[in-house]
Amino acid sequence: MKKILITRKLIKESEDKASQTFDPIFNTNDELYSQSKVIEMSKGCNGILTSLTDKMDKETINKLPDTIKIISNFAVGFGNIDLDAAKQKGIAVTNTPEVLSDATAEIGILLILGACRRASEGIVSAQEGGWKWSADYLIGKQLTGARLGILGMGRIGQKIAKIAKSLGMIIHYHNRSKLSEEKELGATYHDSIKSLFSVSDVLSICCPATKETENMINKETVEFFPKGAVITNVARGDIVDDEALIDALNRRKIYAAGLDVYKNEPNLNPGYNKIKSVFILPHLGSATKDTRIAMANLAIDNIDEFFKTGNCKNKVN
Ligand code: NAP
Repeated sequence: MKKILITRKLIKESEDKASQTFDPIFNTNDELYSQSKVIEMSKGCNGILTSLTDKMDKETINKLPDTIKIISNFAVGFGNIDLDAAKQKGIAVTNTPEVLSDATAEIGILLILGACRRASEGIVSAQEGGWKWSADYLIGKQLTGARLGILGMGRIGQKIAKIAKSLGMIIHYHNRSKLSEEKELGATYHDSIKSLFSVSDVLSICCPATKETENMINKETVEFFPKGAVITNVARGDIVDDEALIDALNRRKIYAAGLDVYKNEPNLNPGYNKIKSVFILPHLGSATKDTRIAMANLAIDNIDEFFKTGNCKNKVN
């Protein structure tokens, strides 16, 4: 049986499956392992089941024992792993696509609703009690009829588009390549972010964090939006230059932001906490029981498939 280090505690059903599939080392206290601890604990192992809290950079990967043949990430994103370093060391990297798209799209929609309809201010006001109703009390932005720009119309982006369309939003998107008409579902393609941002009353960031997308929302690009636009991010914090977004929010160039992900999570830029129109969540995208079980089970199946066949359909490097 292959010996696998599982760096974070999984839901019981998934740990049971791991025990039936291979010889696992569990993290019973769900301790956040340092990079050196991961290296140390992986001695004698054939693979590692990582999660997005594990920074598998070049230095860490190069120090892994030669017995490690696979890093199976418990996420669809894999910005926490240096894919080239892994490839050079002969380590396959896999992810968990599809199974988390619905749950993450739900949070994407929650961000849009929360930011547009001033949910943060509303919650505080309701908790304090004694608010005074008036015709213009906490009025927000209506979704019906608003243009939603989707940056990264992949699995999650398309699901968000479908739900947003049912709410009466008009969908625009940018990818590096245009989708087929069947996948576009009537959305309008833009071949540049400038073109997309200029028609986005609301933006939903759904693309992966890569060298190309890092700080795509920055001092210059934030000016492409119509005044009073709303920016939401359900993808990864690295795509947003926080200082530029915070400045745009303070100037009211950007009306509100809805964020689930941050640079340097869980330590988000303190500037966000000072702005009432920011609706923030602690990286909840895939956080439903069904989805977390499906993700862990897929991460386990990826390892099993890899050792049985020498390859894996969810290999990303
Ligand atoms: P996906 O199906 O691969 O979709 C990604 C989309 O982004 C594709 O349409 C791709 O189109 C586009 N894209 C990639 N690079 C781009 C670039 N440089 N410029 C413009 N568009 C680009 O991925 P997914 O499953 O929807 O997941 C998307 C991301 O969501 C993940 O990478 C992950 O980081 C994040 N996520 C977050 C949570 C959470 O908890 N908040 C949960 C799950 C996933 P082209 O290739 O044509 O450019």
